Amino acid sequence: MSSKYKNSKRCYLIDHHSPQPPVVTLDQLNISEYEQFFDTSHIDSLMVYCKDHWGVTYYDSKVEGARKHQGLKTDWIQEISTVLKKKKIEFIAYYCIEYDEGAARQFPQWRARKPDGAPLIREDEFARWSLCCYQTGYREYCLSQMEEIVQNYNPDALFMDIFGSSLCYCEKCREKFHSAYGYDLPSDEADIRLHMSDMIDFLDDNAQEFLLDVKQRLKAVNPGLAITVNFSCHYPKPVRDLLDYQFSEPLLKDNWFSSAYARDTAIGQYPILVPGEASQVYNYDTVSQYLCDLSSIAAQGCRVGMYSGSQHADGTLDMEEAKRLGVVYTALEEMEPYLTNRTPVKSIGILQSDCSKAVNMPTLSADAILRMKRHNPHLNAILGAMQLCEYAKIPYNILPESCLTKSLLKEYDMLLLPEVYVIQAATVSLLEDYVAAGGCLISSGQTGLWNADSTLRECSALHRLFGCGPAKVHREYTSNRWSAYLRPDSSQPFTGLIACTTPPVSEHFLEVEALSEKSSQSAESSIMEMLHFDLPCVSCDSDHWVNWWSPPPGKKTNYPALLHHLFQKGHVFYLAFDFFTMAGTEKYPYTNDLFTDLLLKAQIQPPVRHRTDTPDIIRTAFFETETEYIIHQISMLPKRFHGDTPPIPAGEIMFKNPVESAKLVYPQQEDLTLSGNGTCAALPPFTLQQIILCKKK
Ligand SMILES: [Zn+2]
Repeated sequence: MSSKYKNSKRCYLIDHHSPQPPVVTLDQLNISEYEQFFDTSHIDSLMVYCKDHWGVTYYDSKVEGARKHQGLKTDWIQEISTVLKKKKIEFIAYYCIEYDEGAARQFPQWRARKPDGAPLIREDEFARWSLCCYQTGYREYCLSQMEEIVQNYNPDALFMDIFGSSLCYCEKCREKFHSAYGYDLPSDEADIRLHMSDMIDFLDDNAQEFLLDVKQRLKAVNPGLAITVNFSCHYPKPVRDLLDYQFSEPLLKDNWFSSAYARDTAIGQYPILVPGEASQVYNYDTVSQYLCDLSSIAAQGCRVGMYSGSQHADGTLDMEEAKRLGVVYTALEEMEPYLTNRTPVKSIGILQSDCSKAVNMPTLSADAILRMKRHNPHLNAILGAMQLCEYAKIPYNILPESCLTKSLLKEYDMLLLPEVYVIQAATVSLLEDYVAAGGCLISSGQTGLWNADSTLRECSALHRLFGCGPAKVHREYTSNRWSAYLRPDSSQPFTGLIACTTPPVSEHFLEVEALSEKSSQSAESSIMEMLHFDLPCVSCDSDHWVNWWSPPPGKKTNYPALLHHLFQKGHVFYLAFDFFTMAGTEKYPYTNDLFTDLLLKAQIQPPVRHRTDTPDIIRTAFFETETEYIIHQISMLPKRFHGDTPPIPAGEIMFKNPVESAKLVYPQQEDLTLSGNGTCAALPPFTLQQIILCKKK
């Protein structure tokens, strides 16, 4: 049984999808040069192309129709795997599923189809990959080849790229959908929107079925083979649970946020994050940009990988990439003792829901990979929530709905509900219990307002917690982009723009009415309306507008924009607009201040937090063991300013309970001064990154 994936931390993929000669000749491919590349780059894991997007194999496949790359004079996979085994480097066999240019051209009956029968093709800037459908004979073609690879070369792991199920209108897919759902596979836009949930379920089920087939066939050959797929953290939990470990490319803003998301949706599943943007061969970034990018992944608790096009058309390698990567991987190895056997500190939990992914999707991309890349609105709001917590420098985690338990929730100071459109009944009662027992919750916009079948509800499933009745999405001013303005109640202490003007909200808001409820402690209402909406003076259309800008505020309304509800021992803030989504766009500067105001009002006391005057420049990750806190900080300046690394003041770390000692352990060792009876550690300035260890009392 290979369990290398449990310990490997420095992965690389020589990314070389190769058309046949004369374009790519591979005539100078040389295993000794490869070996030198492995040594220089200091990798402990290599992903190796067995079949790429061109559908060419790098070994002699006996499967009918298979095409080996004609530039190869040897069995290349055999050569590579021998070297990897000798060097004890993890061998991950790469196999591409849905993009197979060769198979599509040779077997047109396997092509994925658009509704009009035309072939489905990924139209990218430089590439036009054809998609094949694994509901056809292509399924067996892939399964047999993967079996062959596992049989012949005994890789430690098999990685399937471009794995998800694309929306295909071939005869097989149409039949399959009809027999499962009793109606025709929708093809026009309005129909697709109406049946989005069924269609996404259908595609997810197809992917899951195929994964089960792959597992059954390959584990029969080698039960110890580890199996994973790309973008695994974005699949629903039943698919994630079938994987031996989780592998994702970054899809959320940058490696920092992508890693936090990948980590928390893969607990116990050894997540690895593998960006392709950390480097650009021939047009290299500076080493400090590499360091910033790849250390971000390790700092957030994922194993690190990278891919780039470091192989020339003749098969020789661009060694400059190995040198740059080597500097980073050597630094990461030095940090390794502080990166393992630790868990993220719990303070703010951000609720993630698989059922909410299909709701409010503007369109359904046929290509499964594009579907991942064009986020669902729930995920956009999750990203906004993460950014708010990061700016506030308070520890945060993603909490997948399927993992919630009463005892887990108890460990959190606060929960955020970023456009969690569908809230299942069991979750409603967990959340009500959490708040009743003294928890604090911040929710936004359409949270709980949808059913799992993508139909709207009259009231949010959480309306008792929000303290309001029926909710209606107000879209009258969508064309203005700013659909309303926030007017504070004069008795409320706000900071930032809300204290001096009426800042805008995005394209829509929620019309709700606060319930009249008496507080359990007094005769006063337990529900406070902290902000109200003012409407724009006109809705823009071809006959109406004001001037160059979004129309200014006109009529005042009594629609509450922010409700504060005391619910037994706890409390709830409900923002009747898509606050978290807005924060994620970074177009509304006041969202950070408003979040800070809410944190103050909530009076939560995180176990540990970071205070800095430069919250946008420094990223801070908080981990702990039973005896220590481990705090990892990274400067984002090299990323913004082409590798420049001026020293930046780092502020201080504040603890709820006094700690015994604090010391810097990376890049050098240094004892830090504690003040406030051990509740505050002053940090030294740093350039790229630093790790601080604090001993708990
Ligand atoms: Zn099909």
